[in-house]
Amino acid sequence: MKTMVCTCEDVSADDVGEAIAKGYTDIESVKRYTGFGTGMCQGKQCHATVASLLAREAKTKAEHVLPFTPRPPLNPTELSYWASAPFDPAVPVEGGVPAALGVTPGVHPLKPEEPVPARAQVVIIGAGIMGLALAYNLMRRGVTDVVLLEKGYLCHGASGRNGGGVRMQWGTATNIALARRSIELMKGFAAETGINIWLRQGGYLFLAKSNEVAKKLERSAALHNQHGVNTRLMSVEGARDLVPGLSMKGVQLAAFNEEDGVIFPWAFLWGYAAALKKKGVRIETFTRVTGFELGNGHVKKVLTDRGEIACEVAVLATGAWSPPIAALAGVKLPNEPHRHEICSSEPLKPFLGPLVSVLDSGLYFSQSMRGEIVGGMGDPKEPPGMELGSTMRFLTRYSQALLEQLPNLSQVKILRQWSGPYDVTPDNSPILGRTPSLPNLLQLSGFVGHGFMMAPAVAERMAAWMCTGQPDELFTRFNLDRFAAGRLEREDMIIG
Ligand SMILES: Cc1cc2nc3c(=O)[nH]c(=O)nc-3n(C[C@H](O)[C@H](O)[C@H](O)COP(=O)(O)OP(=O)(O)OC[C@H]3O[C@@H](n4cnc5c(N)ncnc54)[C@H](O)[C@@H]3O)c2cc1C
Repeated sequence: MKTMVCTCEDVSADDVGEAIAKGYTDIESVKRYTGFGTGMCQGKQCHATVASLLAREAKTKAEHVLPFTPRPPLNPTELSYWASAPFDPAVPVEGGVPAALGVTPGVHPLKPEEPVPARAQVVIIGAGIMGLALAYNLMRRGVTDVVLLEKGYLCHGASGRNGGGVRMQWGTATNIALARRSIELMKGFAAETGINIWLRQGGYLFLAKSNEVAKKLERSAALHNQHGVNTRLMSVEGARDLVPGLSMKGVQLAAFNEEDGVIFPWAFLWGYAAALKKKGVRIETFTRVTGFELGNGHVKKVLTDRGEIACEVAVLATGAWSPPIAALAGVKLPNEPHRHEICSSEPLKPFLGPLVSVLDSGLYFSQSMRGEIVGGMGDPKEPPGMELGSTMRFLTRYSQALLEQLPNLSQVKILRQWSGPYDVTPDNSPILGRTPSLPNLLQLSGFVGHGFMMAPAVAERMAAWMCTGQPDELFTRFNLDRFAAGRLEREDMIIG
């Protein structure tokens, strides 16, 4: 007999039990693992049932079963409604509907009581896609004395909040090569880990509305072709044929690469985490790094709210949270967090092949394997800061921009919105390799809005570089010292 918990998404009590058995014992993780609370009612019918199952089955103290973060809008609401809401494009919005309860500063209620291990060869701070992918690649090279420290649940950072887009259409040869390798690795991920990451190669269709952006598409397409990526420049008519109902109002030029696509980000994290746990690599969630013990120009210990870990090497893989953590070791990073908002619609029958992006405005949208239209749009008025709330301003700007391209979606309802931090560097390129002042503190951050698709390839090279001692120009060219030296590595094919 099947006991239903979430009728919108067909989640049973057994499904919740399976998530708990896999170690997902907080409500945010159970929500992501089972899909409960992500359908039309957004958890109104099932939230309390899952909370009581968690208290009973996961033996979580009742007072520690936190509610999951409510996602606006309160009720599914049509895009045309949001598009008609008044807003002043010139006035930035501060705050909005507040973000996750689980991201509040301080000790997390679910912090495990036992101390962290006293020592490890490698301590990786941050269990987003970068930290997990690096640990996975170290493990494949036989290095398993690794501890990952994560202050929240597994999908808590940008890696659990992104659009899942993967593309080879970049503005530099390095990023083209990294993305191409990542997509190759993504194709083999299910065979390697047994986890389906739902890679769907429907292509990326870039639209240019200004001369300047059209020129950028021309330049980058030529570079892609030089590097073996088959990006095609397309006329307005050709692009329209790719997506039924796509309005080409104001569009001058399009670029399309059919090998680009989308993946399901959470499954990627679970796949890496499951493979790591199988080999005994420890992923310590709800464990916050609070400082470093330094000596002789090296990191001796990483300090956490569950005790200290002595290590040979520490890796800073904390994405947009990296600057304040680096500062605990006296290191100044130039990264700036910027909120990026994103939302998901009710599910529709499959109709949208490519991810479509208007490069001028930063609008992007794609259709997930569940049928939802998932999309976002950067906001030039968004001030820097670690703000993870959700705003009506975003819904209005996004709905207006989306309906300009796909007017026949006007009756489609937005189910939920959320946001995540872009980890922005002065040249839109990451910070990698040894910290000049602390050589055993390795940097792995600054991936702006494209770290998910770079992680498999970057982590593969970083593990090889760490384990073999062979030089790899990635970790010198993209080193932190480039900023002081005025040697920037600019990437300009950035969405948003
Ligand atoms: C809205 C949005 C859309 C995006 N779309 C795409 C896309 O389509 N394709 C793509 O490739 N990329 C996309 N990105 C970017 C991508 O998500 C990031 O580049 C990538 O996830 C960064 O991974 P990370 O591991 O560096 O950081 P994160 O995933 O942020 O991980 C860092 C982790 O460090 C943890 N942490 C922070 N402080 C501490 C501490 N003191 N102690 C312990 N742990 C700590 C955090 O909780 C977090 O889990 C998008 C990002 C956003 C916000």
